[in-house]
Amino acid sequence: MTRPGTAAPVVVVGAGPVGLLLACELRAAGVPVVLLERLARPMTESRAGQLSSLTAELLHERGFGALLDSAGHEPRAHFGGVGLDLSGLDSPFAGQWKVPQYRTEAALGERARERGATVLRETELTGLDAPEGDEGPLMCEVRDPGGVRRIAARYVVGCDGADSTVRRLAGFPVTATAATRELLRADVTGVRIRDRRFERLPGGLAVAATREGVTRVMMHAAGRPVTARTEPPRFDEVVRRWAEVTGEDISGGTPVWLDAFDNARGQADRYRRGRVLLAGDAAHWHLPIGGQALNTGLQDAVNLGWKLAATVNGWAAPGLLDSYHAERHPVAARVLTHVTAQELLLLGGAAAEPLLAVLTELTGLPGVHAQLAATAANLEDRYGRTCTRIAGRRLAHLRLRTGTGPLRTTGPRPVLVRLTPAAPGPDTPGPDTYGPDTDGLGRYGVPVEHAIDEDGSLPGITTLLLRPDGYVAWADDSEEDLDQAVATLLDAEGRKRNASL
Ligand SMILES: Cc1cc2nc3c(=O)[nH]c(=O)nc-3n(C[C@H](O)[C@H](O)[C@H](O)COP(=O)(O)OP(=O)(O)OC[C@H]3O[C@@H](n4cnc5c(N)ncnc54)[C@H](O)[C@@H]3O)c2cc1C
Repeated sequence: MTRPGTAAPVVVVGAGPVGLLLACELRAAGVPVVLLERLARPMTESRAGQLSSLTAELLHERGFGALLDSAGHEPRAHFGGVGLDLSGLDSPFAGQWKVPQYRTEAALGERARERGATVLRETELTGLDAPEGDEGPLMCEVRDPGGVRRIAARYVVGCDGADSTVRRLAGFPVTATAATRELLRADVTGVRIRDRRFERLPGGLAVAATREGVTRVMMHAAGRPVTARTEPPRFDEVVRRWAEVTGEDISGGTPVWLDAFDNARGQADRYRRGRVLLAGDAAHWHLPIGGQALNTGLQDAVNLGWKLAATVNGWAAPGLLDSYHAERHPVAARVLTHVTAQELLLLGGAAAEPLLAVLTELTGLPGVHAQLAATAANLEDRYGRTCTRIAGRRLAHLRLRTGTGPLRTTGPRPVLVRLTPAAPGPDTPGPDTYGPDTDGLGRYGVPVEHAIDEDGSLPGITTLLLRPDGYVAWADDSEEDLDQAVATLLDAEGRKRNASL
C-alpha cells in the first residue's frame, strides 16, 4: 500500500560514511536532508581503517578533532608493497590516520543528527521515478517496516555503496571489469604466527599482523577462481586457504571476523544524471588496496556538498553542479589506475617481479618518492584552472591570519581574501585598517576578508578567491579575469544577495 509521501529538497540514499558526511555538509548550509538507510543499526565492522592526510585535514576543519586525536598515526604507506615515507608531506596531518570505519561512521552519524538531518533507518529505496529536466519532483519508492511509501525530492544522491540501487534505477552507464581474483581475510584470536607485511609466495600473497591479541590474516591464493558469495567465508575455508598459501596451520584460533573481497572494479561514466547524483562507492569501486576507497568517497561528499547546497539555496552559477563530475571523476579514475597497478604488483606472481624491482629502484629517486607519497595522501589533486602556482590548491596548511585569528578557509560561501605580506612596508595598511569594500572588491558580490600572510607562503599574491571547500578558485597570478572566476561560482542573483549581506 502506498502512504502519502513527504517532500525533501535532498534525499540521500545510504547512511554510510559518504552519505553521512554529505548530509552534514548540506545541513551546515541550511539545506533540509532526508537520509534513507536500509540497515536498522549502524554497521560495526572495521572495513576501511585509514584516513589520508587530505581527509584528516577536511575532517579537522569540520570539527572532528576528537576522532583524529583517537586515531593511531602511521607515517608510512606503500605502493603495491613498495614502502613510502609520508612524514615529509606538506600537511599538518602528514601520514595515515588509523580509525576503524565504524568509529568514523559513528562520529559522522552523531554530527548529522545534531545538525538536524532526518535519518530513516530500516528504509530501503526500491524504486525511483526521475523525470528529465527541472520540472516536477523525483519520486522515491521506499520499503520500511510500515510498508511501501513514496518520498518526493528535488535532488537524490546515491551514496548506497558499490551495488548502488540509485545507479541502477536511474540508469547511470558504467565502465566496469568483473572480478578475476579473490582475497580472504579474518581477525583471529589464539594463534601465534609471525607478522608479515606483503609476503609474496609461490602460492600467492600473505599478510599477517597481531595487535592486542587479535591477528588479522589476509591471503590470496594464486590461480583460484572467484567464489560467488552471499555471505562471508567460513573459518575452515580461511584455514585451508592460509595453509595453501603459507603452509601454516591456524585452525586452533577463534575467528572474530571473516571477510572475502575481490578485484571487481568500475566507475560510473557520469556522476550526474539530471537531478540524480552519485558519490562514494556508488560512483567508483575497486579492490581495497592502498586505503583509497573511503577517502575518495569522503572527498566526493565535500566537493558535492557546497555545490548542491548552493544549487538548492539558489545562488549557484549555472555550471557549478556539473563541475562536481568534472572535478571528481578524474580523481577516482586515477585512483582506479593506481589500484590496478598495485594489484598487478602484489598479486601478479613471478611475472610482476621485474616490474616490482624497477619500481623499487625508481622509488629511491626523491622526486618519484615524493610524487607517490603525495598521491597516497591525496595531496596531489587540484581543481579547475591549474596553470598558475596556487589556483586549484587548498590553503589549509598556510598561516593566514585575520585581525581576530587564523583565517577560516572553509565556510558557507565563496570569499575574497585580501592579503598583506608578513613584513609590510611603511605604507602598507594592516588588515584592521581596511574597511569593508574600500578596495572595491565588494562589487563582485563576494564577502571580503583581510589577512596577513604570516609565513610568506604566497609571495607576490595580494588577492585570492576561495571556494567554500577551501580550494583557491582564483589568485592574482592568474591570467583569468576575477570577474569571470566569480561567475563560475555564483549566479547574478547570488552576487546581488551576497553584496547586500
Ligand atoms: C565488507 C567490506 C570490507 C571493506 N574493507 C575495506 C578495507 O579494508 N579498506 C578499504 O579501504 N575499504 C574497504 N571497504 C570499502 C569501504 O568500506 C568503502 O569504500 C566505504 O564504506 C564507502 O562508503 P560509502 O558510504 O560510499 O558506501 P557504504 O559504506 O557501502 O554505505 C552504503 C550504505 O547504503 C546503504 N544502502 C545500500 N542500498 C540501499 C538502498 N537501496 N536503500 C537504502 N540504503 C541502502 C547500505 O546499507 C550502506 O549503509 C570495504 C567494504 C566492504 C563492504
